Amino acid sequence: MQLLFLGTGGAWGLPEHQCPCATCAHLRAIGEQRTRTSLWLQGPARVLIDPGPDLRAQLMREDLPRPDAVLITHEHGDHYLGLDDLLCYRRNLPPEDWQPIPVYASQETWQQVEVRFGYLLGSLLEKRLAVPGRELSGEPFGPTLACRPVKTDHGPIPKGSVGYVLTDRSGLRPISLGCTSDLMRVSETEGFAGLDLLVCQSHFVHEPAINRANHLSLQRALPLLAQWQPGRVYLVHLSCQDFIPGDDEANRMLKKYEPSEPLRDPAGRPYPIPRDQAAWQALAERVFGDHGLNMPVTVAADGLRVEL
Ligand SMILES: [Zn+2]
Ligand SMILES: [Zn+2]
Repeated sequence: MQLLFLGTGGAWGLPEHQCPCATCAHLRAIGEQRTRTSLWLQGPARVLIDPGPDLRAQLMREDLPRPDAVLITHEHGDHYLGLDDLLCYRRNLPPEDWQPIPVYASQETWQQVEVRFGYLLGSLLEKRLAVPGRELSGEPFGPTLACRPVKTDHGPIPKGSVGYVLTDRSGLRPISLGCTSDLMRVSETEGFAGLDLLVCQSHFVHEPAINRANHLSLQRALPLLAQWQPGRVYLVHLSCQDFIPGDDEANRMLKKYEPSEPLRDPAGRPYPIPRDQAAWQALAERVFGDHGLNMPVTVAADGLRVEL
């Protein structure tokens, strides 16, 4: 199985348009960027997780064919607004050769998605239900490629949020992969335990004093990862929303979140806020080492491919 990171950024991508903060200014200067977080799995089937608003550019960048299934994690725009971009696959085939693409989401998520994209159902997309804790049914899922939605808590508005755990049993031994998507907590604590690979949200470094966005910080992820013990971890959904000491003009913006008790190194110093891929990777390795997490950690970048 191969995992491809189509995008690795937060809800507005990085750098964020017109954001004057030190992180975004630095990213513009060095030409680094992240599109909205989205994953592509190539195994017994092709599975697209979270068709976000950057989908067209991501599909073109990687030259990807029609997916066999689409999984939506929740009803925030950065996780499903690209559904319309899947039309290219139907438009460019003779009508008799076309099969609608199965799309899975929870009932609460469908209530929102269907209002926006109901016109695509039946012709382009086939609506299927993801019930937390129950294996998905219908092709391409079954004994060879199993997929189980895990209920997550991403605050009061996106009530339908789930993560997904996929298990590929086509090889000599089963390979399991999970993606948490956006969350604050997991109701089903065993849901992401003991996986070979976990794609985990890391929206902030430091847990904000008031986490209005209901996103997972690296600080809040540490005890969860210690409990789940995945074989390796990939961090995604990075943002520019941490306060950066000294970046006073930016720190006044609504989107900048001040920590109450920042994540500290063993000497008691708060960890610095990383501004680019290399700094994020160095920080993640340091934080994992300082906090007794022994599994390899990678800060995913757009276009990264991982063999499982
Ligand atoms: Zn998101
Ligand atoms: Zn979200």
